[in-house]
Amino acid sequence: MKCAYCGEELRGMFKKDLHGFGAHPEHAFQCFSCQRFVASTDHRLPDGRYQCADCMQKEVKTDKHVEWVETRVKQMLAAHGIDKWPNSVPIRLIQPRYTPGRPATQAHKMGETKVAKSIFSKSYEVNMLNHMHRIVFGGVLAHELLHVWQYERNIYLRSELTEGFCNLGSWIVYKHMATPVSQAMMTILERDPTPVYGDGFRIVKAVYDNLANGSLPDVMSQLKKM
Ligand SMILES: [Zn+2]
Ligand SMILES: [Zn+2]
Ligand SMILES: [Zn+2]
Repeated sequence: MKCAYCGEELRGMFKKDLHGFGAHPEHAFQCFSCQRFVASTDHRLPDGRYQCADCMQKEVKTDKHVEWVETRVKQMLAAHGIDKWPNSVPIRLIQPRYTPGRPATQAHKMGETKVAKSIFSKSYEVNMLNHMHRIVFGGVLAHELLHVWQYERNIYLRSELTEGFCNLGSWIVYKHMATPVSQAMMTILERDPTPVYGDGFRIVKAVYDNLANGSLPDVMSQLKKM
């Protein structure tokens, strides 16, 4: 195997990413979007994020791109019983906000949902990091839309169930897309070592597998009893 970054043969200790690429430990720079190891010739965004050639080619950068992915993600969620959205849920592309002294790739979230409540209604705003690969964007958007779906129904579970449910939405979208990138993104979700997002996903995924009818509202009914 050759180092993804410098192209030299890998001997002894090296790192592997979840796409199947290897790199010298000192060359293991990950694409911010799909997390694969980048090549030295790959693009670097002005804000310091590494972006692999595939993600650069397929990045979401216009409102038309956002709409294209949004339509497909909503169709996939509808096939799993998730529909009836509030009238307007604006989706905006944003620059990462940095925590000084931390590397660019760790200082931001890929997506976030803001909710404003009044006595009569709620309003939402979904912020998505710019320059994501359209498949990664689809997965992250599914996660954020499932937060909106829970807020709309006043569902407030403990955080690992909330985030695990949202991550199951991402997983389903990746599964529908069935490409090597989406396959790798599924593996990243499955192996996430963090307690809230990783363990949460595995708890919720087990409920989904056990039900075996593909219905996300049914999964939610089970989670409410946990
Ligand atoms: Zn190298
Ligand atoms: Zn990438
Ligand atoms: Zn979340």
